[in-house]
Amino acid sequence: MPVHVLDHPLAAHIITHLRDKTTKPATFRTLAYQISLLLAIEASGSIETEEKVVDTPLEAVVGRVLTHQSMVVVPILRAGLGMVQPFTDIFPDVTVGYIGLERDHQTAKPRSYYCKLPPLAGRHIFVVDPMLATGGSAARALTVVKEHGAVSPTLICIVSSPEGIAEVESRHPGTVIHTAALDRELDARKYILPGLGDFGDRLYGT
Ligand code: URA
Repeated sequence: MPVHVLDHPLAAHIITHLRDKTTKPATFRTLAYQISLLLAIEASGSIETEEKVVDTPLEAVVGRVLTHQSMVVVPILRAGLGMVQPFTDIFPDVTVGYIGLERDHQTAKPRSYYCKLPPLAGRHIFVVDPMLATGGSAARALTVVKEHGAVSPTLICIVSSPEGIAEVESRHPGTVIHTAALDRELDARKYILPGLGDFGDRLYGT
């Protein structure tokens, strides 16, 4: 299955501090930015480039630049917002779409209460959701972006559970998932163990 777990000493360092319950929201936000930047770089390793000739102060050189391509990052509200800025900082042409999901109390399934997406056909789509727990929200978001034209969207998470990965794989087979950590299991309340607690609460201090 195409699951890529970040394997880098810096990623391990950042994740450990994110997990630490004494880490305060301001530091947590910085660490979330840093790990999301590493994930953004890792997940975009196959985007297209084209030749470009530039003059150095000494001579002409054939370099490569990113093809003008449209990349769309789609955070799942609200916690996904903490992963957006690295994408907008490093990719010149990125656009941002938003999906808000809430639990439908009748069906117990995630329901989309907000959706603002640009046209997605022919573009590189990165759905970002920091905690892949049951996989229900991520799978729903992947369905929504596909309904808007996305083909083979990539899912990027900070911490994932085996249950979440299995759910995404069963509902969207072949989805490429990039994660910074693959944890042990979910607890009875569907929190990831060992995890880092509620990502949104820790990001925003709620
Ligand atoms: N969402 C979180 O923020 N944390 C978890 O452990 C699971 C879902």
